[in-house]
Amino acid sequence: MVALETIVSLCKRRGFIFPGSEIYGGLSGTWDYGPLGAALKDNIKRLWWRRFVTSRDDMFGVDAAILMRREVWQASGHTQDFSDPMVECRRCKRLFRADQTEVSKCPECGGQFEEKKQFNMMFKTHAGAEENPESLSYLRPETAQGMFVNFKNIIDSFHPRLPFGLAQIGKAFRNEIAPRDFLFRTREFEQMEIEYFVRPGEWREHFERFRAEMNEWIARDLGLDGAKVCEREVPDDERAHYSRRTIDFEFDFPIGRKELYGLAYRTDFDLARHSERSGADFGWRDEKTDEFFIPHCIEPSFGLDRTVLALLCDAYREDEMAGEKRVYLKFSPTVAPIKAAVFPLLKNKPPLVEKARHVYGMLKGEFGDIMFDDDGNIGKRYRRQDEVGTPFCVTIDFETLDNDTVTVRARDSGKQERVLQADLIGFLRSRFK
Ligand code: ATP
Repeated sequence: MVALETIVSLCKRRGFIFPGSEIYGGLSGTWDYGPLGAALKDNIKRLWWRRFVTSRDDMFGVDAAILMRREVWQASGHTQDFSDPMVECRRCKRLFRADQTEVSKCPECGGQFEEKKQFNMMFKTHAGAEENPESLSYLRPETAQGMFVNFKNIIDSFHPRLPFGLAQIGKAFRNEIAPRDFLFRTREFEQMEIEYFVRPGEWREHFERFRAEMNEWIARDLGLDGAKVCEREVPDDERAHYSRRTIDFEFDFPIGRKELYGLAYRTDFDLARHSERSGADFGWRDEKTDEFFIPHCIEPSFGLDRTVLALLCDAYREDEMAGEKRVYLKFSPTVAPIKAAVFPLLKNKPPLVEKARHVYGMLKGEFGDIMFDDDGNIGKRYRRQDEVGTPFCVTIDFETLDNDTVTVRARDSGKQERVLQADLIGFLRSRFK
């Protein structure tokens, strides 16, 4: 398994991800996505939205505000319960998560710990010019609540029938005590979440359906190695305060086997609480049985940044090609930030460059994420593309000028074949599926 530092340095060197506020020494727990990282993340979001929203007719996409009133978080239980146990070292004053330190002494300096304290992880802020208790507000620590509070709006405007879901992709913020391990534990991250509302007696079947669907997403859409993914039934004492059942989908990251996604049965906890506290009517009269109840909720929750990290770690390969060591990212074409690169064999031969520009324009119009590169020898250009996971390179050479064929070189095998320029789009499209 690749070391995490190798991935971090590749990401920085090749423009995927940079440390946040880097020129001022960095801000712990923040990372900035560069062009390739942003493209990779965007591809994941689009795949997710297609699978879980646009290809279904029981799902409604929303995009709620990040800032929410404090009453939301009081009702959801977050102001009270969304905390981690924290210990401080008496000697070096470093802070640790008490549930993540295996020994009772500071792992950095061996000092004794102070008494354990609870630390609430929500970021506080004030909405408006005055800083007073009334203006206190929070950045959301999960996207979920933005969906619960809009439950009635969706019913009133779309009149769905049970079961149906709300889906959202967006930022969440947690003031993690010890952010670490690159994208794995950050203070600002993105989630892709679904709140799926069901009849209380039917939660098990929907839970199982989403469990299967999440596995499909992991295997088919992302193409992650199944041997590195496993499910864990989360025991009673580890579950969040709102959950009656949770399964974690864990991935073998370089830092060990850790949570990638979660699937939780949140019962009617959130809707009931919000209804009680805000007075909103979230009651449901069942069209089949005429029974009255508050819908129950199944929540598949996907961390986007952990998905990016899992994809990078899973795709990383080192091998030898033409007697040289090379590094490549074995991304599936659906997630690869660059789908193909186009090269003129030589940059000082205008007919080659002109033709290459034309092929580049044609592919860019069709696929979008296409790159042009005429810098350095062709072997170096292949290596550069391999390292960022570009599945195909298209070279315009002298033969192209004779017979309108181009060389298409596949990333993983290095195999080259000649393809008629007129067939190029079809050739690539068939391989991008
Ligand atoms: P952990 O136990 O690792 O702190 P969690 O159980 O608190 O995670 P959830 O509240 O279930 O996480 O959040 C849903 C998803 O959001 C997680 O499965 C993960 O992918 C992502 N996530 C949570 N916290 C972070 C974080 N600090 N940085 C990056 N992603 C995160």
